[in-house]
This record gives sequence, structure tokens and C-alpha cells, in this order.
Amino acid sequence: LVSRDFHPESTLVEVGAVKIGDGHPPVVIAGPCSIESPEQMVAAARIARDGGAQILRGGAFKPRTGPHSFQGLGEKGLKYLRQAGDAVGMPVVTEIMRIEQLDAVCRYADILQIGARNMQNFDLLKEVGKCRHPVLLKRGMSATLEEFLAAAEYILAEGNSRVILCERGIRTFERATRNTLDLSVVPLVRELSHLPILVDPSHATGKRSLVAVMSKAALVAGAHGIMVEVHPDPAKALCDGAQSLDGEEFREMMGDIRALLSYL
Ligand code: PEP
Ligand code: MN
Repeated sequence: LVSRDFHPESTLVEVGAVKIGDGHPPVVIAGPCSIESPEQMVAAARIARDGGAQILRGGAFKPRTGPHSFQGLGEKGLKYLRQAGDAVGMPVVTEIMRIEQLDAVCRYADILQIGARNMQNFDLLKEVGKCRHPVLLKRGMSATLEEFLAAAEYILAEGNSRVILCERGIRTFERATRNTLDLSVVPLVRELSHLPILVDPSHATGKRSLVAVMSKAALVAGAHGIMVEVHPDPAKALCDGAQSLDGEEFREMMGDIRALLSYL
């Protein structure tokens, strides 16, 4: 079902007025790694909107490596995300980690995110496949492209074809970056599948200084958009501050991207 052989025409995923896919300008999703407070979320939403992003992100259920790290605000966070999205007039995306969270996440969010760590949580994939919300499926950190597309297949097989893929870097021997951004999957996905593909340079590199340049590289490679972490005060972020852009950095990056897009 995910294959272009089966479905030659590119899939366009529409979220409100935002269109993600071939023939439309690349979409920019921006927002903090984690929702921390109503004030932080609204400030981040303004950064996203003022920079020109179309969709707001924010995590309420956080898949942290260690149990002592901030785990997210849960349902309270979903409310703050929705309020911030409504305040700036942007649709919102947030990660769902367990089937039990489906009702709440569907109530507050416009797009459901499946994180890298849950890319092969097949029961979760089946459940999001049964609902009508678009799904942002992130590539597992050790998943081959074949496994990534097979994970998307689970969602489509249940009847939900509004799937957006997201390359977010894979584990390699290289430790200079948090993950290794596998940009070649972007043109490959475009060959093999009709689904749109985004790139998340924030989690891929783990380094603020690399986010803008890898965002541009992703768009040159043919990505249908990017997802970037922004925070009003990255030094105080409860999660992923080192890879988060502040308002000025995000604005500057978006200016660079607009200039690039006029050439593409
Ligand atoms: C995220 O985007 O919030 C996230 C946790 O990313 P990943 O699942 O790619 O690690
Ligand atoms: Mn993060």
C-alpha cells in the first residue's frame, strides 16, 4: 500500500489549510521538544509563527532515555499545546506513546506523532491506523528503509493513508553528531513510495549549529518539509536544549530557507 508501484500518484496530506506533499511549498513544523508550561508553550508558538512555520509541535508524553529525566506534562501538556496552537492559529502535532493515550491525543492534536522508539510498536501502529488523524511516523534509529516503510504499511493497512514519514537520523559509529542524518532516504522514499517525507535535523544532529544547514540540505534533497525544535530560552529547556533554536536563530534560518526556495 505504501509503494509507488501500487499507487503511482503522490499522496497529499492536508491538515486544515496546510498541504504536505508534491506540488506544494515545503512545510515547516516547529516548536519545543517538550511542553513545559503555558507561558513557555505560547512563547514557542509565537517564535514558530513569526518565523513562518505552518505547524506547531510539542511533546506531552516524552520517551526519555532515563526514568529520572523530565517525562512530560501528560494531558495537562496537551491542553497547553492546543491553547498555544489556537492562540497563533496553527495546527498542532504531538507524540503518542501508548494506545491508552489515543483518545486524549486525538482530542487535542491535529496530527499524531509516532516517535522513533515506537516505530515498530505494531499494536500502536494498528491503532493509529484505525483513526482519522494524520500520522507523522518517525524512522526508528536502527530501522532500515524497508522496515520504515513496512511500519507505515501497518497504518495504511488499517485504512489510514494520511501518513507523513520523517527521517530523524540513525545510529552509526559516529558520535560527533547525536545521530547520522541519512539524507539519501529522502530521494529514495520519493522513488519507492507515494507518501510525503520530512526531515528532522534537530534530533538527527543534536547540535543547534547544524540545524539550519541540514534543513537546507534536506530541502535540496527533496524533502516535503522539516521539523525543527525551537525554544524561547534553550539554555533552560527541560529537554533537548542543545539542539533547539531560539527565536532569532529560527527567524534567521527561515530567511535562509526562503532565499533557497526561490532557487529550487
Ligand atoms: C520528538 O520528535 O519529540 C522525538 C522524541 O524524536 P524521536 O522520536 O525522533 O527521537
Ligand atoms: Mn526532542
